[in-house]
Amino acid sequence: LKSKNCYHIFDPVHDRSLKGRHERIERLQQALADNEFILYYQPKVHLRTGELIGVEALIRWLHPEKGLLPPAAFLPDIDNHDLDIELGQWVITSALKQLSAWQSIGLNIRVSVNISAQQLQDSRFSKQLHQLLTAHPTANPANFELEILESSALQDLQQVSKTMKICSQMGVKFALDDFGTGYSSLTYLKYLPVEVLKIDRTFVNGMLSNSEDMAIIKAVLGLAKAFQRDIVAEGVETPEQGVSLLQLGCEIAQGYGIARPMPATEIHSWSKNWQPPAVWVNSSTGAEG
Ligand code: C2E
Ligand code: MG
Ligand code: MG
Ligand code: MG
Repeated sequence: LKSKNCYHIFDPVHDRSLKGRHERIERLQQALADNEFILYYQPKVHLRTGELIGVEALIRWLHPEKGLLPPAAFLPDIDNHDLDIELGQWVITSALKQLSAWQSIGLNIRVSVNISAQQLQDSRFSKQLHQLLTAHPTANPANFELEILESSALQDLQQVSKTMKICSQMGVKFALDDFGTGYSSLTYLKYLPVEVLKIDRTFVNGMLSNSEDMAIIKAVLGLAKAFQRDIVAEGVETPEQGVSLLQLGCEIAQGYGIARPMPATEIHSWSKNWQPPAVWVNSSTGAEG
């Protein structure tokens, strides 16, 4: 407290982590310029018929030394950074290209991408989406879906809702991702124009062993019905989970038990070859039969 200089406390740990982040962001910027990102696609299917309904685009970094890296390894670094917006633009662009490529071979599926809260709340979002849709006229916006992480903190719901309505008028659909895990599930459901709820995989994972998880799944299905929203169950890993979901009236699902995320080039042959387990085909439908 002898001089003002006392306030310049050097914190080596903090300094190192900040510097580390800065360097990692520069490396990620380079990766974007060098085309090292790639989208994998995970099928969403109709449980009973096995029909491929759509795919979710999931970003990967094909790192020249470290190999294929999952989003958790690099997305946190660009949180609240402009690169999040730039990378998001890249994701939308490549998904739209892929959507029109699939359409051109007669594969009529829905493609969804994940968007961050930062992206959705950026004032340029709807304008940029419009530009990208215009630049890819052969990609049908009605088959394009945007998944919003339900746990993301949306600051101004009125503004977000307005943005979403503008985007909906362009034909795109919105889904609430990981539904039920955030603090604001019901508020988001009430105020945001979403057409799809994605039940978080933690509930699906526990539904057959934990009565609370089962109760949550039933409640979410009830909400979806009351609000006339579509439902997708995430994280279906076993045939038994699929049977149980079908019995509850949930017909669309994705998960490792159906398919892992895969390169775009594999989707078409996967969809031709995949058969749902016999227990799904034969299971009776619907909670109220
Ligand atoms: P998400 O949107 O909820 O995507 C589902 C995640 O669960 C994916 O992980 C997928 O590989 C994984 N998964 C699917 N089925 C199963 C299953 O049966 N069991 C288990 N244990 N996991 C399953 P991934 O690809 O690592 O992505 C993680 C998260 O990163 C995504 O969660 C999403 O929130 C975010 N993310 C992925 N791609 C993007 C992107 O392009 N942009 C943004 N902003 N976020 C992305
Ligand atoms: Mg998602
Ligand atoms: Mg999810
Ligand atoms: Mg998730």
